Amino acid sequence: MDYIKRMEELVKLLKQYNYEYYVLDNPTVSDQEYDSLIRELERLEEEHPEHISKDSPTQHVGDYLKLDLDEIVHANQMMSLADVFNYQELREFDERIYKTIHQKVEYVCELKIDGIASTVHYEDGLLVLGATRGNGSVGENITKNCLTVRTLPKILKAPETLEVRGEVYMQKDVFDELNNERLKNNQSLFMNPRNAAGGSLRQLNPEITRLRKLDHFAYTLVNPTNYGIHTQYDVMNFLKSMGFNVNPHYKLCKNIEEVINYIEEFKEKRKTLNYATDGIVIKVNNLDLYDEIGYTVKVPKYAVAYKFPAEIVTTKLKDIIFTVGRTGMITPNAVLDPVLVGGTTVSRATLNNEDFIKSRDIRIGDYVRIRKAGEIIPEVVDVDLSRRDPSLLPFEMLTHCPECGMELKKRDNESEHHCVNPECCGRILEQLIHFASRVAMDIEGLGEKQMELLYNLGYIKDISDIYLLEQYRDDLLTLEGYGNQKVQNLMDAIKKSKENKLEQLIFGLGIRFVGSKASKNLTKYYHSIDELINAKYEDLIQIDDIGDVMANSIVDYFKNENHLKIIEKLKSYGVNPKSVVKEKEFLPLLGKTLVVTGTLESLSRDEANNLIEENGGKASSSVSKKTSYVLAGVNAGSKLTKAQELGISIITEKEFLEMLKK
Ligand code: NAD
Repeated sequence: MDYIKRMEELVKLLKQYNYEYYVLDNPTVSDQEYDSLIRELERLEEEHPEHISKDSPTQHVGDYLKLDLDEIVHANQMMSLADVFNYQELREFDERIYKTIHQKVEYVCELKIDGIASTVHYEDGLLVLGATRGNGSVGENITKNCLTVRTLPKILKAPETLEVRGEVYMQKDVFDELNNERLKNNQSLFMNPRNAAGGSLRQLNPEITRLRKLDHFAYTLVNPTNYGIHTQYDVMNFLKSMGFNVNPHYKLCKNIEEVINYIEEFKEKRKTLNYATDGIVIKVNNLDLYDEIGYTVKVPKYAVAYKFPAEIVTTKLKDIIFTVGRTGMITPNAVLDPVLVGGTTVSRATLNNEDFIKSRDIRIGDYVRIRKAGEIIPEVVDVDLSRRDPSLLPFEMLTHCPECGMELKKRDNESEHHCVNPECCGRILEQLIHFASRVAMDIEGLGEKQMELLYNLGYIKDISDIYLLEQYRDDLLTLEGYGNQKVQNLMDAIKKSKENKLEQLIFGLGIRFVGSKASKNLTKYYHSIDELINAKYEDLIQIDDIGDVMANSIVDYFKNENHLKIIEKLKSYGVNPKSVVKEKEFLPLLGKTLVVTGTLESLSRDEANNLIEENGGKASSSVSKKTSYVLAGVNAGSKLTKAQELGISIITEKEFLEMLKK
């Protein structure tokens, strides 16, 4: 039921952020922080649609209207745009369209201007009405203010009646000038050009709007077919011909790969422009397909906004956990409220070591800024002290190993703490790597590096956790390089490993001295892990290549309660292979060593030896104390004599065949 609480919490928080952003034009959190929370809410709503609240910000556009401006009902709804944050999501958008309409489409790419959405109506070429988007159905009347927007035409080049949508924005140099002025006058500063444009456009006094020197880019024509227009590309050309200011960087792309090239081109170029852009808008070019591709309640499905990834973002540090590396090195890791950074959602970050945390005075509960520094795991940069709760306690370094409890040591001139117990931590990771390795359970995608990463992040603590990795699917997707396909492949490989042979599991357990050959031998006599758990030293010692040391090691391994617990967990997750020995082979000679000597009546020497092996026994050629029986035929020589000397049971061929019948 925790998720219901979280969903309520998110709705409340996002509504507050919407109010600050749309009404006050004064956001208190970054767009990335907002977008991460929206994504979290969307995911929870997808999983629990029965708990979607009617006033959830995912269900409608924008929201609040300024009460003192007149309301305008939009004849055609003003929708928002769905976001994508990386190329994989962009390709998925393209695939969804293909699946819906079964044809490849062209796209128009446009810069996403970071301003205020507006709609303007013209009658016979004259601007008669301007409105904000508001909640998509009802906006605010800002006609007088629109008349002051510098690059918005008041009279069109032809006496057309039309409705055009676009973005009112403030140029960067105008923004700097405005904030400098406000600084001089001791007025509060605008956070960015978008908020400045919003605050300026929704003024009751249009004279103030005029002084703010706003501009306009047009990009949508309502009901284009009325003007004989069927593509977005032609819309842009038409708008230009009517005298609108159209951003010059729109481009027709033949497919999604060309779209990606366009995005790559503008990643850096956009920074040189005199207006703020927060992404690229990608629209299907053929307008006639729009209705077929469809809409959600909030956004069209034929267009999407690729948001440029932020390199540094702020999020809440929920906890600090410690992991023990292969060499025993202790690493503190940040457990974060998931946040979008560098195009992916991140929920863990490294805190390096005690000195790193203390020098930045990082405390659990703080809002921290994190960045992706080209590494798989992002790093915490510093703390946003302005958002610190004064009751937070300073960080205390761990004194004892979280795995084995041994006191941690810090070597001279080193910042890292180590667990120096050779029996501890390194061993756990080694065991995990061994278990998944090709020679053991052969789980592709869980090699040394990946295992160390998942271990350090706390997702895999013992071998049984591998089979619970599915529950961290969303978290895995947040890791650099872990796309949907890679995670799916990993899950498939883990599932497949449940079908492995018993010998692979036995070897994978990493029982001291038990190699792959011995593991295989064991499965001839023990057909499940449970049978092996109950194996007796006396029986083990009889098996090929299993001597005193190995037999003791096996018995000791299964005396360990912790090992038994892990095996129980493995079994409950479906890892419980049975050996391939056939049921008919109840193996009457299990654990017995037999020596054949002399000439037998019905069996050749080889046939007898084969029968011994097939029935679980070991066929040996020399008599020793380890020999269980000597099968003696006619003319048996020295072997028979030795058996008699050692007091070993001597059986006839008839007795031998009787034994097999049992
Ligand atoms: P959006 O800004 O992500 O995208 C849709 C808008 O893009 C359109 O309505 C249009 O105004 C604009 N746009 C710019 N160029 C365009 C073009 N060439 N073609 C078409 N449209 C273009 O969506 P939104 O619903 O306006 O705002 C939601 C976003 O606002 C969030 O994702 C978040 O980033 C931000 N937000 C932030 C906070 C905060 O507290 N920081 C709060 C609320 C919203």
